[in-house]
Amino acid sequence: MYVNNGLIMEKRIHFERLVIAAYRLPFKIVKTKGKNKVVQNSGGLVSAVLSLSESLKNDENQLHNNKIVWTGIADNQSSSVFFKKFRNDHFELFPVDLPPKLNELFYGGFCNDLIWPLFHYFTTYAVFDDVYFEAYKEANQKFCDEIVKITRPGDFIWVHDYQLLLLPGMIREKMPGVSIGFFLHIPFPSYELFRLLPRGWRECIIKGMLGADLLGFHTNDYTQHFLKSVRRTTGFECQQNVILTRNQIVKADAFPIGIDYSKFHDACLCMPVICEKKKIHKNLPGQKLIFSVDRLDYTKGLLLRLKGYETFLEKYPEWHSKVVFNMVVVPSRDHIEKYRTLKKEIESTVGRINGKYSSLSWRPVIYQYKSLSFDELISLYGASDVGLITPLRDGMNLVAKEYIACQNDNKGVLILSEMAGAASELSEAILINPVDNNEMSEAIFNALEMNQPEKTTRLGRMQKRISEYNVFTWAFDFMDQAWEVKRIQKQMSVRFINKTILSGIISAYKNACNRIFLLDYDGTLVSFEKYPEMATIDVNTLNILRKLLDNTKNQIAIISGRDRGFLEQQFDDMPVTLVAEHGYFIRKPGKSWESTVHSGEKWKDAVMPILKEYVNRCNGTFIEEKTGSLAWHYRNADVDFAQLRLHELRDDLAEVIRHKTNFEILEGNKVLEIKSGKYDKGQAALNLLSNGHFDFILAAGDDKTDEFLFKAVPESAYTIRVGMSPSLAKYNVSAYPVLLKLLKNLSAG
Ligand code: UDP
Repeated sequence: MYVNNGLIMEKRIHFERLVIAAYRLPFKIVKTKGKNKVVQNSGGLVSAVLSLSESLKNDENQLHNNKIVWTGIADNQSSSVFFKKFRNDHFELFPVDLPPKLNELFYGGFCNDLIWPLFHYFTTYAVFDDVYFEAYKEANQKFCDEIVKITRPGDFIWVHDYQLLLLPGMIREKMPGVSIGFFLHIPFPSYELFRLLPRGWRECIIKGMLGADLLGFHTNDYTQHFLKSVRRTTGFECQQNVILTRNQIVKADAFPIGIDYSKFHDACLCMPVICEKKKIHKNLPGQKLIFSVDRLDYTKGLLLRLKGYETFLEKYPEWHSKVVFNMVVVPSRDHIEKYRTLKKEIESTVGRINGKYSSLSWRPVIYQYKSLSFDELISLYGASDVGLITPLRDGMNLVAKEYIACQNDNKGVLILSEMAGAASELSEAILINPVDNNEMSEAIFNALEMNQPEKTTRLGRMQKRISEYNVFTWAFDFMDQAWEVKRIQKQMSVRFINKTILSGIISAYKNACNRIFLLDYDGTLVSFEKYPEMATIDVNTLNILRKLLDNTKNQIAIISGRDRGFLEQQFDDMPVTLVAEHGYFIRKPGKSWESTVHSGEKWKDAVMPILKEYVNRCNGTFIEEKTGSLAWHYRNADVDFAQLRLHELRDDLAEVIRHKTNFEILEGNKVLEIKSGKYDKGQAALNLLSNGHFDFILAAGDDKTDEFLFKAVPESAYTIRVGMSPSLAKYNVSAYPVLLKLLKNLSAG
């Protein structure tokens, strides 16, 4: 049991070891006074995992007392050599060595010249270069090789961030059964941005990410953007936030990363910090302090923040000499031209504002380009009256949460950009659009003027939330859900036809004298194509069926939604029973078609105009007219738009057929079908089964209309749903070729 902040958390980590793959190792070596010192790297992930491992060290059961394993890149070759042998109380490190040239193209190139700007909506900064992508693949492969070497059964591999988007898929290929989680620390952009990536790259990225069992994002918006990109890029079905890939279910969800709340909150009560805060106040007598701290980055909105503050000074001269803005910028990537230019622009803007408004006794902006120690940082958080955090785009923004945690005196007001992931949790902050000077200026004024009760209420609510969903809750929640996904996958895999199940089916087949195969057509014997007429049966499949029919103990019935003409074309020379239009027509071998229903076709006059309207309202859809039904196909339409129209169409049809008990709406694979008459594939199957005493029945199908079949056949039948969807069938196979292989196996028996 883990106690944090008075909250008792029942969560346990079920995995043997936690194996982290992140771009950087959590430590670097710093030389002080001629001696090498191991120092923690900055960044949210490192703090999160370090805090997590500290909290676990006293709990014997957690992670079975194993150390956390971390693979990543060391700062340089000598650090890499050092860390290869480094162990401490919490970590075992496994440096990944990349040649400098490769690292430059991979990290400096693909990661920071393409993914970083693109995923932060700075499209004009994005550089598309094939050489970068090749380096990205190669670097991810090197991580994969290292992970494969160190992973043991029972481990949980947790891959982090945009540098390693391909890694989950690469690991999955080498170790199909292992548990993999992936967390993205930056935004996942809208599909309109993601689609700017060349088709091959985006397919590779989505496929790579889908190698994980669980994918985590900071916000629900990012999760939805990702799911949309999955649907558009792969065509995989997503049921809420569960993706049905070809052979697995994968979950995507929001896990807003938290902070080690107590560490920040409690440190503010320590003497050195209290003294430092007093010193700050003493240095700014009678002045209110606005504070911000960010890495040097174009995403942080630093220039626009200065402009917003300048507008405030312009609009509210009564605040001159009474307010100071302390802007701390932490050095980052300043060897790169873009960042150097940004730094110069910041410096000149600060100079301009100070030049314009300073007096002998007052400087409106105090600008510092440096890193802060932990004590300095939290003293400034705690001493300031306003936290001005206004990124143009930010995955989460931990500074905002840390600022709230340090408000022990209930004094500070947070002004936060609505473009930061943190805004979805910190709704009691003053939320602003960071490009709107006037809004920022008003927000500064309102924050400075805010009365104490309002400050206390706002802070209280935000503190409650971030103290409860903190970094530990985040990590436990993620690992717990990863475990849950694995459990569901295992549950599903019991339904998958493995060697044991297969040998059971084969032996039942061999022992039987009178067998029947009830087989759906589309998605079961053939793959889906753009248009139905293109999905013709191939010669290998026909040969498998022929071989089965060579055995006189076997009968085959194709039970399909297709019309008579099409089925005749595909199977004309074969002694199979054909069931067309979901059971409307049946043709036994050597006989002619019989109709089982007499519903007439007048009803179509009411339905056809509605479907035609929907063809016009949803580009790419078309109508298929059969004797007993009308089908609206939406396979070639925009996935999300078609879903919307599908809902509307269902409602409109419900109106028309409300009082007509004889009507049914069938939902197939990317097709909605309306038919009149109480018949379905199940009844057709019962009809066929009533003509013989079958001691082996195998029924297979891939969509909802086949569920009637699975429901109708006797309990002893082998029922198989093709695909990942839950079903009344006893078993699933991942795709139609697996079913064909099974049929081939039986035909050989
Ligand atoms: N931080 C730091 N050194 C400093 C100032 C801040 O390590 O001199 C930390 C800060 O406490 C926060 C992190 O850097 O945890 C910044 O995280 P955030 O999510 O706000 O932005 P990022 O830099 O990851 O984009």
